[in-house]
Amino acid sequence: MQNWLTKRVDLTPERTAITYAGQQLSFLQLSQAVEKLAQQLASKLDDNPRVAILTTNTLTGYEMILALQQLGRTVVLLNYRLAPTEIAYQLNDADVTQVLQTDSYTESLANVQQLPFSEITAAPLAQVELQSNFDLDQVTTIMYTSGTTGKPKGVEQTFGNHFYSAVGSALNLGLSADDAWVAAVPIFHISGLSIMMRSLIYGMEVRLYERFDVKQINADIINGEVTTISVVPTMLKSLLNELPVGATYPSRFKTMLLGGGPSDLATLNKAQLAGVGVVQSYGMTETASQIIALDPKDALPKMGSVGKALFPVELRVAHMTTEGVGRVQVKSPTLTVGYLNKMDKYEASFEDGWFDTGDMGYQDAEGYLYLVGREGDMISSGGENVFPNEIEDVYQQLPEIKEISVIGVSDEHWGAVPVAVIEFNQGQQLTHQALVDFGRQHLAHYKVPKNYYRLTNDWPRTASGKIQRYLLQENTNLDDKIL
Ligand code: ATP
Ligand code: MG
Repeated sequence: MQNWLTKRVDLTPERTAITYAGQQLSFLQLSQAVEKLAQQLASKLDDNPRVAILTTNTLTGYEMILALQQLGRTVVLLNYRLAPTEIAYQLNDADVTQVLQTDSYTESLANVQQLPFSEITAAPLAQVELQSNFDLDQVTTIMYTSGTTGKPKGVEQTFGNHFYSAVGSALNLGLSADDAWVAAVPIFHISGLSIMMRSLIYGMEVRLYERFDVKQINADIINGEVTTISVVPTMLKSLLNELPVGATYPSRFKTMLLGGGPSDLATLNKAQLAGVGVVQSYGMTETASQIIALDPKDALPKMGSVGKALFPVELRVAHMTTEGVGRVQVKSPTLTVGYLNKMDKYEASFEDGWFDTGDMGYQDAEGYLYLVGREGDMISSGGENVFPNEIEDVYQQLPEIKEISVIGVSDEHWGAVPVAVIEFNQGQQLTHQALVDFGRQHLAHYKVPKNYYRLTNDWPRTASGKIQRYLLQENTNLDDKIL
């Protein structure tokens, strides 16, 4: 396939490619800026085929990623919110020698050369040959999983993965020449990077935000300047909460693409009432963004479902229990070609050619998928499978509880039992008996946590905010028992 940036310039040079902090670039202007950067990078880069980048969502960071791609380098996208030791692990794992970094990044990293963006943009231009073709089998990006269940895995993403991801999304959401997609999710995650790749493939404007500026983004939507935005559950909540009284989203606005983690039904209901077209979706770093999505017309009747497999994707639920809950497995041209240095783990993820996502769920009679939790979080208690999410959702309704996480601990009689770690709202608390009583009103007895603990330290979280249950378990924050 022809290089996507040059192809895009051949097709629609004048169309807006990106808007960022008051600047607007057409595809021709973007391509000129990227080509210049590629020439400057060429005078700075060693010959390691992999180059890492540490950036927030800025125009320069965006152009750097594209410039590396033009040079045929594999871009290792790092999360700048990680601690230096976590970054060091990824740099070492990916065998990286140079890191391009936004000037505001001040940590020093061992064993690599750190190149601030300003040093690159001040460098002389070198002669370079840009990659004329994007081979669909070529690995173009490496991205680490969030590390929710253990050490992050380096996911190799090919041009083909990104291409089919863009195609699957367009076939689902539709596409028109005046689409504009807000990228306020990080471009170092697949949620953000996939918007960049779609922009080139579709010829679509990206409205890039360095920070999630709720007021400004709501204004963009209300003023009819954008058609689509990708959000995680907390962003959806903020957008709805900050919606000015009486304001509604205009018909030009088509899709609020929601993904990344489970979202609560109350928020989805609120969105429905506000007439916001939320498309629930499910995907992972390994599948180059969404592979399952819910049509907005199904939002009410299928509330809580993440939808159906996109056109290029096949889905099955394997090893079902009698209740129909089983392992979510997929086949998809967007599926990663491997985990860096962990090919054994990658190969072990397949069963008869199906990739096991590690997530558990069930399909209703019409094939809509509902997720119940991660396989590793499942608690097998006396022959019953218990999923923390369901229990947490119930307890989260209590006004005294700020946040709750449920984990399994071993039990002589039952094999394992659920216990809960709770962070109460300021000045609030509940007794063991009150918590048990509440649980028994809403949950089967075996799902009601046997013990409750006050959170003693901070929640162990990934950089993207997900609670790492395995660390809760390991560090046993279980010394402040609620009586
Ligand atoms: P690691 O693989 O390192 O443990 P991670 O799985 O959290 O981390 P990501 O690839 O960022 O890394 O996240 C993908 C996971 O996020 C999915 O496997 C799933 O568990 C969860 N997820 C994604 N979308 C949804 C959704 N709509 N509802 C519930 N969970 C979701
Ligand atoms: Mg994962």
